[in-house]
Amino acid sequence: MATSGELARLFEPRSVAIVGASTRPGKVGHDILKNILSSGYGGEVYPVNPHADEILGKKCYPSVLEVPGGIDLVVVVVPAASVLAVIEECGKKGIKLAIVISAGFKESGPEGIERERRLGELARQFGMRIVGPNCLGVMSTSNGLNTTFARGMPRRGNVALMSQSGALATAIIDWSLQQGIGYSKFVSFGNGVDVGVVDLLRAWQDDPETTVIVAYIEGLRDGPEFMEVARQVSAKKPVIVVKAGGTQAGARAVSSHTGSLAGSEQAYNAAFLQCGVIRANSMEELFDLAIAFAYQGPPRGRSVAIVTNAGGPGIMATDAVERARLRLASLDPSTVQALRKRLPEASNFYNPIDVLGDADADRYVYAGEHLLRDPNVDSVLAVLTPQAMTRPRETGEKLGSASARSPKPVLACFMGGQAMAEAQEVLNRHKVPNYPYPERAVQSLAKMADYREWCDEPPDPPVLIAADKEAVRAVLAAARQENRVNLGETEAREVLTAYGLRVPESYLARSAEEAAAQAEKIGFPVVMKIVSPDILHKSDIGGVRVGIRDQQEAQDIFELMLLRVRRYAPEAVIRGVLVQEMIQAGREVIIGSTRDPQFGPLVMFGLGGIYVEVLKDVSFRVAPFGERHARRMIEEIRSAPLLRGARGERSSDVEAIVRGLLTVSQMVTDFPEIVEMDVNPLKVKEPGAGAVAVDARITISEAEEAGDGYAVHRFQ
Ligand code: ADP
Ligand code: MG
Repeated sequence: MATSGELARLFEPRSVAIVGASTRPGKVGHDILKNILSSGYGGEVYPVNPHADEILGKKCYPSVLEVPGGIDLVVVVVPAASVLAVIEECGKKGIKLAIVISAGFKESGPEGIERERRLGELARQFGMRIVGPNCLGVMSTSNGLNTTFARGMPRRGNVALMSQSGALATAIIDWSLQQGIGYSKFVSFGNGVDVGVVDLLRAWQDDPETTVIVAYIEGLRDGPEFMEVARQVSAKKPVIVVKAGGTQAGARAVSSHTGSLAGSEQAYNAAFLQCGVIRANSMEELFDLAIAFAYQGPPRGRSVAIVTNAGGPGIMATDAVERARLRLASLDPSTVQALRKRLPEASNFYNPIDVLGDADADRYVYAGEHLLRDPNVDSVLAVLTPQAMTRPRETGEKLGSASARSPKPVLACFMGGQAMAEAQEVLNRHKVPNYPYPERAVQSLAKMADYREWCDEPPDPPVLIAADKEAVRAVLAAARQENRVNLGETEAREVLTAYGLRVPESYLARSAEEAAAQAEKIGFPVVMKIVSPDILHKSDIGGVRVGIRDQQEAQDIFELMLLRVRRYAPEAVIRGVLVQEMIQAGREVIIGSTRDPQFGPLVMFGLGGIYVEVLKDVSFRVAPFGERHARRMIEEIRSAPLLRGARGERSSDVEAIVRGLLTVSQMVTDFPEIVEMDVNPLKVKEPGAGAVAVDARITISEAEEAGDGYAVHRFQ
């Protein structure tokens, strides 16, 4: 059997019953039966309907219980109100797989929600796996199984597709017939009461008929479980996902920078990136990628050679290559020599290779073949425009054979409509993906290269950071005791210290004299900050002063600060003024974390100040992550060159930032009750000199949701 596990028989049932099969053409219960009977499926088919003796020449049974012998799979098309009773009968008969096509569940109001809940319960009670409800069903092209009411089957091929939306399916089938992409399996799982994305990934990971998995999803039930399984499956075959809609904002009020910058989009992007899932940003891209991966293997590197018969499109392709973080291969001298031998003098012999508008198929493919043989080339992009001498069909044939002989991927961009229609078919036959515009070809190639890099990477386990967890537990327990969700400034500093992060020497002053004495003890210059549980952004109301030079100034600032706060925030409870060691020089960065409803702890990195707030120049990862991802978070922000000391800026201790990221990653993994935190800023000194957390804010969950309900990866 091609697929293994609990869902194997879903794709290869020996017998199928259709409950709600109908005698009337045009009814769903009729069309499904007709599809099953006419798509080449060879197993037993049992229509079930108490009001008919025979449908489409098949003996009809009043209930599944009356069907002689076992049933591997039941397809349920009765009205919603009868579904539960039918499933109970199926359970009694020992049926282990059901597809509920019927609508009228959670998508249709309170009654439907309750019905769906009970459907889920029945599944668990009988150990039955249920696809749906409110779905289109299942297709398997190798054995002609079609439990849908869609017209026609897609072409056979090696792409398995799962979709939360049923309506999409019909479009996909139609498109497949036209574009030549073939499918192995198709599942529309609708509301997904039971079988969902993760189950299907598992079912297809070892299916030899499936080399590419494609998914259209609107949400996920269990982010961490998805990540774990997707990571495992991605290592075997590409998983391409388009994620649509439904960005629900967290119910919790957002009190940190990280909380306001992190949306579910960022969480999905980070999660997909970490587990090797290839994200498509549109349906168009989903199919662009599906066809690229289905036809060609990913390139072993990022060097691209372009062959073109026209200058303009060659330049466009070149631009696209650079934007996509691929690079133009610099050709081996022997390749240039070979090209010079056969190409007209006016050609361009350096990448992109322009074989000129009058090139026939032989000249064009001669260049292509030499590029494929060049050791500096990882992939070839073949751009062709219809000109007087162009022979698209013949060029497609020859290019296709050249591609088949080479292990390197060839992607085509034969530009044009009518003139290229024939060539398109030829390229499909040779499994050369063809795109109408160079940008789409290049984008697909770039994501293939990303995927290959992900596959080649060694694992990136979280780095264990020594921490005094007892101390943290005590701090959190004390806050809980007082029903506080926001930790005080001192408490936050204790938590950071327990995880080995450096904080400035600080004392709380309750009078001007105390402030002066403490400042003296620390040594000038010092920083003073208002301490109040009611003030989140201290500097906004003049609650932070840096560079205080002597005792007199410390006293003055103390008075001034209290005055100011009383004026601008008269309600605020003031605990005193913090007198703090001033951390000289250093670049300010922010490391924060928030909890995503799907994926749990999400860690953010960015430069401090305006870079975060105005430019939103930040990066994200789902915790816990290892050193490689910590480094990438730093590299990913646009202002990363500043940290490396570009343009006369001082370079910063990147290692200290890496350590900071790993520390926060572990902290929020260890303590799921930390729902939000910001270290803002972490002042990062010159290389080797470390970093100091001069301000931190930590928010914990309300006591009753202790543990938070989020499953958290634990690698230890
Ligand atoms: P808030 O974020 O509530 O306004 P911070 O404690 O972050 O208050 O202080 C605001 C800014 O003051 C920081 O971004 C930093 O530039 C500077 N600052 C605060 N504390 C120190 C310190 N100990 N040493 C040097 N600069 C500091
Ligand atoms: Mg701050």
